[in-house]
Amino acid sequence: MDPQRSPLLEVKGNIELKRPRIKAPSRLPLSGSRLKRRPDQMEDGLEPEKKRTRGLGATTKITTSHPRVPSLTTVPQTQGQTTAQKVSKKTGPRCSTAIATGLKNQKPVPAVPVQKPGTSAVPPMAGGKKPSKRPAWDLKGQLCDLNAELKRCRERTQTLDQENQQLQNQLRDAQQQAKALGTERRTLEGHLAKVQAQAEQGQQELKNLRACVLELEERLSTQEGLVQELQKKQVELQEERRGLTSQLEEKERRLQTSEAALSSSRAEVASLWQETAAQAALLAEREERLHGLEMERRRLHNQLQELKGNIRVFCRVRPVLPGEPTPPPGLLLFPSGPGGPSDPPTRLSLSRSDERRGTLSGAPAPPTRHDFSFDRVFPPGSGQDEVFEEIAMLVQSALDGYPVCIFAYGQTGSGKTFTMEGGPGGDPQLEGLIPRALRHLFSVAQELSGQGWTYSFVASYVEIYNETVRDLLATGTRKGQGGECEIRRAGPGSEELTVTNARYVPVSCEKEVEALLHLARQNRAVARTAQNERSSRSHSVFQLQISGEHSSRGLQCGASLSLVDLAGSERLDPGLALGPGERERLRETQAINSSLSTLGLVIMALSNKESHVPYRNSKLTYLLQNSLGGSAKMLMFVNISPLEENVSESLNSLRFASKVNQCVIGTAQANRK
Ligand code: ADP
Ligand code: MG
Repeated sequence: MDPQRSPLLEVKGNIELKRPRIKAPSRLPLSGSRLKRRPDQMEDGLEPEKKRTRGLGATTKITTSHPRVPSLTTVPQTQGQTTAQKVSKKTGPRCSTAIATGLKNQKPVPAVPVQKPGTSAVPPMAGGKKPSKRPAWDLKGQLCDLNAELKRCRERTQTLDQENQQLQNQLRDAQQQAKALGTERRTLEGHLAKVQAQAEQGQQELKNLRACVLELEERLSTQEGLVQELQKKQVELQEERRGLTSQLEEKERRLQTSEAALSSSRAEVASLWQETAAQAALLAEREERLHGLEMERRRLHNQLQELKGNIRVFCRVRPVLPGEPTPPPGLLLFPSGPGGPSDPPTRLSLSRSDERRGTLSGAPAPPTRHDFSFDRVFPPGSGQDEVFEEIAMLVQSALDGYPVCIFAYGQTGSGKTFTMEGGPGGDPQLEGLIPRALRHLFSVAQELSGQGWTYSFVASYVEIYNETVRDLLATGTRKGQGGECEIRRAGPGSEELTVTNARYVPVSCEKEVEALLHLARQNRAVARTAQNERSSRSHSVFQLQISGEHSSRGLQCGASLSLVDLAGSERLDPGLALGPGERERLRETQAINSSLSTLGLVIMALSNKESHVPYRNSKLTYLLQNSLGGSAKMLMFVNISPLEENVSESLNSLRFASKVNQCVIGTAQANRK
């Protein structure tokens, strides 16, 4: 089988090939039909031999239809018959059949005329004449006829036997042939079954193939759809690619430009590096110089402060508040300085008319004028910023390592708290010295950090009332009440003082300082409700411990800035009746007076360089002893009320401040380590 051909085609081929073989048996001579003999044929056989030998048709028929069977007659065969037989032997059944068919088509020539049945018993006459019927008497003749007849019959019987034998042989052959054909048929049937099975299989395969084809067609349509989609996508992508290509080109162009710029920048950077190195060397040199200059600045700054005086006194007169009586003109005068009105005022004149004193004529004595001179005088219109500007340099000394102490002295209501903490309502314009001083310190510390200095600040805020110390930064349960605080040395042999039970809060920005001042105000308010107004009769001490370090040069400096809002300096009216409240008040006042006079005495002792400085005589001086000594710088604000009713107290304050102003504390030494 051709391996390329489909099983279906193979089946077809088989069928074509087998077909002739299946039909073949039908062409074979049916021996049975030829062997059957009709009665007339049998009778023909009884005809005399001479007659029968003359007729060729019947014998030819038998011979041609059964090529393998020998002729029934002994008559010699014709030329055509012999050839036909020879051809038949050579070519097989098909050729012999063709020849037989050709012979069949020839009309048989009857050899003998048809005899009637009744005439067969008449013996043939010699010479062609039929013998006439013997007379009944001719028994001998009849016997002779009968013998002849018997002889003929015997011959005939013999012939018939031979013929029978031949026919039997033919029958055997035919049976064998039939058997062979049967076998062939079975084989063919087997073949047919196989072919049918193959055909069925082919059908099944065909069915499967059709299903396959359907499926493939379906897939094909899906694939076609996909292909279309992909083609669409491809078009889109090509479009995108074109866009990207143009972008890429653009970017490449830019890259080239950038590369060119980069290479020029590199060259520039290289030159800049060189320049930077040169600058760095210069910077180092300048830093060195700057440090030298900074140290020089500190020295000069201190010299300037010393020239201004280590104890300075500023006088500040508060304005008349709404609702207060207008003071008589000339009560307080601010004569201009030696440089004229452009000079900041340093003098103040207070005129007081003494009613007890009178002229001889009885007319009121002219008011007595008291002139005072201070380092600076701030008339009522002076703003907080103006006041701070004057002390900013002093505050900065604390960063340079010099202890600084600023007091606000004066009677109650003269503006001490306003000066120190600020006015009400949180107005930035009215901010006092404490917030301003701290902001200034923070900003200068920030500037100095550029020169390698690192500063840290720790704040504390205490109140001294009736010689007891209370923490104004107390929180929680201690809030308002405050446990007893004691002033102690930080350690054995240490000069540093600390207040036990008081909070020391590290601060680094204004907000933190604001929060502390707010807390202190709250604590004072609680105390006020518990023990009646006492803030005016207590000293409030805000202290800031400043530590500076220049690690690369191994330098350190430390100092404290103390901002003290002193208790009201007013005296008790000696004419007042002494009730229980007044007695308490008297005790408070004595404590205040005692501590204020101790402060004066301490300043005097320091000024006179006395061996004993009575720091221990009051809690205030004891706490502030490190901020008042030889290396310290001190500033006292004397706050004055502009009112006429306060003239007496104003005069007392001015006198106290004048005494302080006359003091000179020895040359301050920076607290450097
Ligand atoms: P003290 O603390 O000396 O008792 P205060 O600072 O409480 O006095 O001042 C008393 C009142 O005067 C407060 O209402 C305060 O706001 C006001 N005051 C004080 N000084 C000034 C000033 N320079 N400008 C405006 N108001 C002031
Ligand atoms: Mg006050």
